Amino acid sequence: MSNSCIFCKIVSNEGNASIVYQDEQVTAFRDIHPVAPTHILIVPNRHIDSVGMMQPEDEQVVGHIFSVARKLAEQEGISAGGYRLITNTGPHGGQTVLHLHVHLIGGQRMKYPMG
Ligand code: 5GP
Ligand code: ZN
Repeated sequence: MSNSCIFCKIVSNEGNASIVYQDEQVTAFRDIHPVAPTHILIVPNRHIDSVGMMQPEDEQVVGHIFSVARKLAEQEGISAGGYRLITNTGPHGGQTVLHLHVHLIGGQRMKYPMG
């Protein structure tokens, strides 16, 4: 947990986000700058900087993020059409917020780099 981390603030309901799902392990909220009709970020409630800083005990929560992504895609009505999951890691990966997150993006045919 980092006091200055904007995603930790969102997990504690003190950030700028529309939360669409939360349980004891993860929080999902709409990206403030959506690149597609559905653009949701799914984060572990417990602060992990990035995939590069993952520990073996984090494997379960990261797996759970993917299960939540599948369920949210169904809720958003984008399962049949398909969608994209993205995790940027480190400066070269384009990570701008240092709290591990998976982008769930869909609702249109994906292009590169994102959305
Ligand atoms: P990254 O570039 O690290 O993979 O993705 C960070 C994402 O977080 C960006 O898509 C950005 O729009 C989103 N974001 C940054 N700050 C906030 C915020 O305060 N609230 C919400 N809902 N999204 C944010
Ligand atoms: Zn954090």
